[in-house]
Amino acid sequence: MARIERILITHHQLKLDPPFPASWDTRPRTQFPATLVRVYDEDGNMGVGSGDAMLGFSQYQHLFIGQEALELDRHHAVLMNIDFHGGRPWPLDVALWDLAGKTQGQAVWKMLGGKAPRLRAYQSSGVHRTVDDMVYVAMRCLAAGFPALKVRFGRPQLAEDLAVLHAIREAVGDRLELMVDCNQGWRMPWDTVPAWGLEHALHVARELEKLQVFWMEEPLHRGDYEGMRALRNRVGVRLAGAELTREPYEWRELLDRDCLDVFQPDAVLTGGITGLARFAQQVAQRGRLFSSHTWGNGLGIMANLQLVAGTAGDTYVEWPLDAPEWTPERRDYLLKSPLTLDDQGWFTLPETPGLGVELDEVALERTLSESASFH
Ligand SMILES: [Mg+2]
Repeated sequence: MARIERILITHHQLKLDPPFPASWDTRPRTQFPATLVRVYDEDGNMGVGSGDAMLGFSQYQHLFIGQEALELDRHHAVLMNIDFHGGRPWPLDVALWDLAGKTQGQAVWKMLGGKAPRLRAYQSSGVHRTVDDMVYVAMRCLAAGFPALKVRFGRPQLAEDLAVLHAIREAVGDRLELMVDCNQGWRMPWDTVPAWGLEHALHVARELEKLQVFWMEEPLHRGDYEGMRALRNRVGVRLAGAELTREPYEWRELLDRDCLDVFQPDAVLTGGITGLARFAQQVAQRGRLFSSHTWGNGLGIMANLQLVAGTAGDTYVEWPLDAPEWTPERRDYLLKSPLTLDDQGWFTLPETPGLGVELDEVALERTLSESASFH
């Protein structure tokens, strides 16, 4: 046993040229921010996490200093309180798991139950492209060995989104599963466009059904429980969501009210590994799928892969990739080398104690920043 001695938080920003026109953000992103949380114990061991920007967290650090590092449930309970009063402090939970794994000599996914030693990834695209360019993305996805591709809706006209989806289905036949992210669950701070209503979501869902879409993601606002249940009752396509939903009682509500088929909370933004490991078990017991949202940096992706591999491990996991604007090099710039898949889209979990990531200290030094913003 060793006590927590110090927590170090640093911000980093990678300049993006060309910018990344994320389909869910009305402003093209000229920077990719990342906040790194390092937790040290009194023996000099270090655990690391990344995800939320941790703004305002410094006023809560004293709640952890001097505490036993391995008391993960205690730390989680405090983090839940901070989540309520302040920001999303979950990278610290991830860092504490990394530290626990390192001091216990075990990989995090094994500490969590070791459900699946490898996971199959789907390519998660992020840019609205023309029909021809999206077909090209799909063909490259197929050639890279992925079993599935997620496409973004939200172009000015629904007909444009559907034309893209039709063209992709025609080009790939049944060789790729297709997911569609409607991105209606939440908005960026400056984006005031209201979420879809049930009738529109139903209209879209019927179109997706015809094209055998594997799941329809965030078709409605995150709090529209009745809408989600009604939609799910009326269409055959799986519904996915809850990627940034914060509270365990909200996840349970979504589960108990039969709102979703696929649950996607992200360990570095909501609940941490501790909270989501518990919830993932509940999801599995109910026969639903658990597949974390993980559109962040490589450290966040690894945290979610460890979580899913340790607990559920029964469906495709998200793999953000949409070159040239979103490459593994940009995505994983915090790490010594980008995370990789084999030629069939499988990710093999590392046996290394902790999360199994190695930081690129040179890149971290070069990208050090006062703030963490996308623009
Ligand atoms: Mg999403």
